[in-house]
Amino acid sequence: MGFPALNATGSTAVLVVGAGPAGLMAAEQLSNAGIAVHVCDAMPSVGRKFLRAGIGGLNLTHAENAQSFRSRYSHSESDVDGADGKGVGTVSSWLQDFDADAMRRWAQQLGVETFVGSSGRVFPVGLKAAPLLRAWLHRLREQGCVLHTRWRWVGFSEAHSATTQSGPFHTLVFETPDGAQKVSAQAVIFALGGGSWARLGSDGCWLPVLAQAGVACSVLKPANCGFDYDWSMRLLEQFAGSPLKPVGLTVQDARGQVVFSRKGEALVSRHGIQGSLIYAASRHIRDLIDHEGAARICWDLLPDRTLAQVQTALRAPRGKDSLSNWLRKRLGLEGVRLSLFHELAGKTCSDVDQLAGLLKQLPQTLHKARPIDEAISTAGGVLLSAVDDQLMSAAIPGLFFAGEMLDWEAPTGGYLLNAAFASGRRAGQGAIAWLEARRNSLD
Ligand SMILES: Cc1cc2nc3c(=O)[nH]c(=O)nc-3n(C[C@H](O)[C@H](O)[C@H](O)COP(=O)(O)OP(=O)(O)OC[C@H]3O[C@@H](n4cnc5c(N)ncnc54)[C@H](O)[C@@H]3O)c2cc1C
Repeated sequence: MGFPALNATGSTAVLVVGAGPAGLMAAEQLSNAGIAVHVCDAMPSVGRKFLRAGIGGLNLTHAENAQSFRSRYSHSESDVDGADGKGVGTVSSWLQDFDADAMRRWAQQLGVETFVGSSGRVFPVGLKAAPLLRAWLHRLREQGCVLHTRWRWVGFSEAHSATTQSGPFHTLVFETPDGAQKVSAQAVIFALGGGSWARLGSDGCWLPVLAQAGVACSVLKPANCGFDYDWSMRLLEQFAGSPLKPVGLTVQDARGQVVFSRKGEALVSRHGIQGSLIYAASRHIRDLIDHEGAARICWDLLPDRTLAQVQTALRAPRGKDSLSNWLRKRLGLEGVRLSLFHELAGKTCSDVDQLAGLLKQLPQTLHKARPIDEAISTAGGVLLSAVDDQLMSAAIPGLFFAGEMLDWEAPTGGYLLNAAFASGRRAGQGAIAWLEARRNSLD
């Protein structure tokens, strides 16, 4: 099936490629402005990752104050321009236009109320993505937005950019059920997602194609991910799949500075270690592995007791108790946390202070992140320095980028979706301004 609303020259004003939250949000801006917009997606249906996020309750955004909210974002060029450099500032500027409150109002306008959970995370009442997506797609179609599924963008045609009477056009090539199709557009918004959970559509295959075309990209890396660890058979047989809670986790950078320290919950998996606490620390762990070859993390197995309290508890006479019995009786340490202690502590000594020190700071060395496809999100992608404030490519005017395919990252907690929406909004508005400027320059 071709493009029903294309004009006689086989072209359209704007194409959105990728129908996740970012692409649909961009399309919404255009259709709100009365501009005919076509949205193409490689998958048989749209918004698959958004729907998958609904299985976990659909954490849409977070209710913390704006300053803390914006501090959650980072990007691969942070090392170059510092925490307050262009990249983080760029994400903040999208969020200024579409913050957590705007996100909640947007859902409400689609008939879906939201609530703030105990941790400040914001969810739709009903904890599902499908009603929201259904209402959204209905509204987009009503506004004249045309969705094309099973349209996979595979590259640019050889005569990629051509200037015609109505301005420059970009010609994109798609694989479709009817074979290869070419479509030209004055502006193209790419919102192709990151490079994880490829079965939901975002496979990262776009990166070499865009890089080849001259769009500066950094390599995609796992974010909010787990890490490999070679557990003993004994631990695996008893505790694979067990939650490790409560525990504290500390990560120090190569200079010994604490870059992460938090209490929470992790999970011992068959392949290593994962869970919310590990995901939250994963950027630091991943970067240490990338730069130093390994990351040494420290577990606090007794986060609700101070070191002095642990020392005091262990000073009572042990009698004939085994170490395990002793730790269980005196400190309530048992199950997977006790097993982790035996697994990582190596040969333990009977010195109380040393033992207490290990219980409060038990080191584990990690060498490898789990495969990128398993990650909740990915870092890297189209560099923020390669786009202007409207998210248009500096190298190829008329091409815009939005969502996770841009080089920013954030922890889980609603930050990913809020920024995907906000960047889609910014790119959509940018494309409107670009078309307007083209039209004016031709008049
Ligand atoms: C299990 C899981 C749970 C999550 N839960 C949450 C959560 O609760 N809260 C939160 O904030 N975030 C969550 N996320 C992350 C969030 O879903 C993503 O960050 C968000 O969907 C990114 O939006 P996007 O539009 O940039 O990309 P995507 O949603 O990945 O959409 C990209 C679209 O582009 C299409 N596409 C890709 N390549 C092509 C191509 N070549 N041609 C045409 N189309 C193409 C894909 O089919 C897809 O539809 C979760 C992620 C996962 C995996």
